[in-house]
Amino acid sequence: MAGRAVQLVEWTRTHRFCGRCGTPTDEAPGERARRCPSCGLQAFPRLAPAIITLVERADGRALLARNARFPTAMYSCVAGFVEPGETLEEAVRREVFEEVGVRVGDMRYRRSQPWPFPHSLMLGFHADYESGDIACDGIEIADADWFAPDDLPDIPGPISIARWLIDDWLSRSA
Ligand SMILES: [Zn+2]
Repeated sequence: MAGRAVQLVEWTRTHRFCGRCGTPTDEAPGERARRCPSCGLQAFPRLAPAIITLVERADGRALLARNARFPTAMYSCVAGFVEPGETLEEAVRREVFEEVGVRVGDMRYRRSQPWPFPHSLMLGFHADYESGDIACDGIEIADADWFAPDDLPDIPGPISIARWLIDDWLSRSA
């Protein structure tokens, strides 16, 4: 709820003028949109889809990565924004390959989580490892490894979708 409020306030603040002709916008009646009274352009709240993926290997291990921006040695799932013109499946394959250098095969959509910083929607997947050795990009990802269920590093806290994806994998590993 608070996340939604932050997103809508931010959106209203950054869409006060028409992006096409510069006229101050009004609230569009009956829709969550702002409308230009001069040229009719409508602007809807932005939403940036992002994928987050736990890669599983047939030997029961999962790939977890440490983001270079994490303040602690926490390991999590691979995540990134979906690019224009890309399907979710393509985004999963591209992000996993770009960040940790491995190819994934089949994948399963699991659940989503709104993430209001500033306006994304996280779409959570489990993906099966297919090929390749771990090779971190060295920029976004500082380290990555295959972890067994009984030998996990520090992982994200319980409200995150990353943790949910990890716990879901653990429940199937037991
Ligand atoms: Zn306009």
